[in-house]
Amino acid sequence: MRSEDIYDAKMYSKRSMEIVRGQGARLWDTTGKEYVDMGASIGVMNVGHCNEYVIQAIQEQTRRLMYIYSIFYNDQRAELLEKLAEISPQSLQRSFLCNSGTEAVEAAIKFARAYTKKKEIIAAMQAFHGKTLGALSATWDAKYKTLFEPLVPGFKHVVFGDIASLHQSISRNTAAVLLEPIQGEAGVRIPSNSYLQQVRELCNENDALLILDEVQTGFGRTGEMWACQHFGVDPDIMCVAKSIAGGFPMGAMITRDDICVLPQASHSSTFGGSPLACAAALASIRYIEEKKLCQRAGELGNYFLRQLNEIKSERIREVRGKGLLIGVEMREHIKPLLLQLAERGVLAISSGKTILRFLPPLVIEKEQIDFTVNQLVDLIEHG
Ligand code: PLP
Repeated sequence: MRSEDIYDAKMYSKRSMEIVRGQGARLWDTTGKEYVDMGASIGVMNVGHCNEYVIQAIQEQTRRLMYIYSIFYNDQRAELLEKLAEISPQSLQRSFLCNSGTEAVEAAIKFARAYTKKKEIIAAMQAFHGKTLGALSATWDAKYKTLFEPLVPGFKHVVFGDIASLHQSISRNTAAVLLEPIQGEAGVRIPSNSYLQQVRELCNENDALLILDEVQTGFGRTGEMWACQHFGVDPDIMCVAKSIAGGFPMGAMITRDDICVLPQASHSSTFGGSPLACAAALASIRYIEEKKLCQRAGELGNYFLRQLNEIKSERIREVRGKGLLIGVEMREHIKPLLLQLAERGVLAISSGKTILRFLPPLVIEKEQIDFTVNQLVDLIEHG
């Protein structure tokens, strides 16, 4: 038995390979077998594994200052906060720095309740926002929730993409509507062009905040820096994490100046905004900008979607995606397909039981996309 199987808390359904090295969109296991990382290690590695900018920034910062609490000013933190304000939707100027997506969502819920002095949060069915108790209350799937009840009161869920459903639920008691602009874990669900604008209007009419969870869709993933840009909608609060710091743990809740009215120390995080995480994030964002990765994700995403749409098979129900966030919904359980793809050197991930999800590093090469599509075609036709 392997050490991890003996000593970890058994929370992860393990794949058999032991991954020990990565470069760009490639991974290698202990036997030297090479894989294409078609999941960007669960949406984290937008700038690719072992990104040179990130390595250099981390090396330099570890020699200067790894950690200092946020009660002290710090050059790296200052620079990152300024950068986040620059690249975020215009009115979002202040960030609470933390260490993960679920923490960014926790912060959003607390800031929204404190600012509006209201309690009700409306999220969407099939949503995923994390697994700490507050974020979990917004997450939809009962399989993540039932064991841990009672969760946080005050959460309601509406049908994602259906404005009538929100219309029925929202009222002047609503503190915030919390949505992924494109649902990721749910299997890449893209709402109509007008949906988020209509949500924005309903929020305005009811003095409710709009919180967009861009944890999976942010930092170029969908072909724009933020998925909300596709829909021309600015949120009041945005949650980011995953790919923010090139593989280094970090998250942020980014919001408007006037929303930051919580009493000091009513929310905090020991490690949030450490100089090391900030240096890694600055390097990762600089890489995304200099290498035009948003544009690259848009172009390669279209290319990938075209290739996938050309596969003619009864086994495929639907192909959908935006940029390099792509779902292939099958008419069957996909676990065997995932294992077969892995054997052939393609590490994809699943959304539920029937949807293959591809969200590779944005630095992926066309040849690696071709390789993936060829393996998939071969498996679907002959597998
Ligand atoms: N929000 C979304 C949209 C996510 O996809 C995830 C993770 O998959 C989270 C929140 C939770 O992020 P983390 O696992 O970093 O806590």
